[in-house]
Amino acid sequence: MLSLRGHHLVCLHFFTGEGYDEAFIRNLRNILTRADDEDITITSGADDVCTSCLHLREGRCEYTEDVDADIREMDKKALDLLNLSDPGRAGWEALRDSVRKIFPEWHSLYCSECDWRGACEKNIFFREMLKK
Ligand code: SF4
Repeated sequence: MLSLRGHHLVCLHFFTGEGYDEAFIRNLRNILTRADDEDITITSGADDVCTSCLHLREGRCEYTEDVDADIREMDKKALDLLNLSDPGRAGWEALRDSVRKIFPEWHSLYCSECDWRGACEKNIFFREMLKK
């Protein structure tokens, strides 16, 4: 069963094949393939995405100094908007429907300041959401 943290339940829907390195991208592709068939366990902190990330140090994100707390807040907000809780379960298709509904708020809260915005803007689903 997959284990994913709050903000990945949203942001992974917009993956376009870009990432930190080849191992990270390969892992994301594998997760998205599995997500079609497997239930997702909602987790807090480092998840199945983070385990292949070169910025993970001793269970904390060190992408930038002090970012770990901000990311944990982002996880909480994602779960709040998606009406989910940790611990809990989710299915990928139902999540996709929920992401459609919460996208305007999510986008206004996080996407304009996000370093991955350029990658997400290449994603067809993301661009569809922007038009609504
Ligand atoms: S731009 Fe950033 S915050 Fe917005 S969906 Fe993409 S990865 Fe998530």
